[in-house]
Amino acid sequence: MHDKVLVLGGGVAGCAAAIALARKGRSVTLIEREPTPRHKVCGEFLSGEALEDLHALGIDVASLGAVRIDYVRLAAARRAAEAPLPFPAASLTRKALDTALIAAAIAAGVRVEQGRSVQTLARTAPNLWQATLDDGDTREAPTVFLATGKHDLRGYTRPKDPQRWVAFKMYFRLGSAQAAELAHASELMLYPGGYGGIQPVEGGIANLCWVVQGRYLARLGNRWENFLAKMQQDCPHLAMRLAGAEPLLAKPISVTHIPYGYIRRTTEDGLYCIGDQAAVIPSFTGDGISIALHTARCAAAACLAAEPAPVFQAKLRSALRLQMHLAEFAADGLNNSFARAVLPFCLRVWPGVMRVTARLTRVTQPAAVSPQAAAG
Ligand SMILES: Cc1cc2nc3c(=O)[nH]c(=O)nc-3n(C[C@H](O)[C@H](O)[C@H](O)COP(=O)(O)OP(=O)(O)OC[C@H]3O[C@@H](n4cnc5c(N)ncnc54)[C@H](O)[C@@H]3O)c2cc1C
Repeated sequence: MHDKVLVLGGGVAGCAAAIALARKGRSVTLIEREPTPRHKVCGEFLSGEALEDLHALGIDVASLGAVRIDYVRLAAARRAAEAPLPFPAASLTRKALDTALIAAAIAAGVRVEQGRSVQTLARTAPNLWQATLDDGDTREAPTVFLATGKHDLRGYTRPKDPQRWVAFKMYFRLGSAQAAELAHASELMLYPGGYGGIQPVEGGIANLCWVVQGRYLARLGNRWENFLAKMQQDCPHLAMRLAGAEPLLAKPISVTHIPYGYIRRTTEDGLYCIGDQAAVIPSFTGDGISIALHTARCAAAACLAAEPAPVFQAKLRSALRLQMHLAEFAADGLNNSFARAVLPFCLRVWPGVMRVTARLTRVTQPAAVSPQAAAG
């Protein structure tokens, strides 16, 4: 029994931790509420660190069709500026990535239960956790990894999100000239109340993902189509990209309650919190997947070394703090109307600042990524 581990949530963090533990001989059961991976709200940018971690897990993003991303472009009002990324990067739909991760977990010997939702988690004895599933079934283990991402489990909720952020994702088939302009670039667009990103993903399509504070959306009747029109008015660069574009979903997928800046302070013995359950970095950094993989790898190592979960969680918090503060600081800047007006101009004059910001908001300094991991 003491070798048993329960992983709650089969997204990036849950799969990564489950694979690492199973490879070291632990008996791992992973519970994922979706019967099969589906689209998730995410910009789908994979940073250099994420590529390295995925490669170590045996995920070859190039063979999944990932698109290489070489540039970052910032657009606000009527200006745009671009800079090369200071690390290798790629983009891949979450559906493809999550499918590959679940397959890798099964191949590593993880017992994967898909289509089962965890309702409650409770300690039933000093050294035993019990998860109750939607049909009343229970699973028990002395060690649990909480990896339910944006969804909080009852009793383990993260703090409220005072800005009431709402995030949307939509796929488009761009006009051919616009698709050619976007190729190998990740574009960040600024507008009052939030920001959005557009980048190519596999299959010749583009992912537009955007966030907006609740009060700005409310001013437009809480309607995404009104806000998308306003974004294009405020940021003509986006209007140009979307001219003649064909939407590929009936409506965008969305998610609410995103406690940006959150880092978990404490946990209980035997409960390791990873991914978005450990920390939520502002989305413009494109580093959430990397943090999910990083926290999963560190938590698995801590568990294998018998480091108590509360000690691990406190160490993780101090390791992530500086990066999180810098990302929050930069996010505040993006939300400032003066900054929006002058940023692209400043970046044209000194494009290096974009590279510096991209580096400072990473969870770890990137090392070289092996050729197999780099996308085509
Ligand atoms: C608008 C936006 C844009 C983003 N863009 C990027 C980007 O471009 N690049 C990047 O690196 N990061 C990005 N992120 C962040 C990134 O999406 C997350 O940080 C990352 O997905 C976290 O991984 P996770 O494993 O913690 O959660 P997830 O990948 O969300 O996985 C959690 C899993 O748990 C399952 N689950 C939930 N509740 C239960 C339950 N009760 N029982 C069983 N299973 C359950 C879910 O179905 C899900 O599969 C973005 C985030 C947002 C909001």
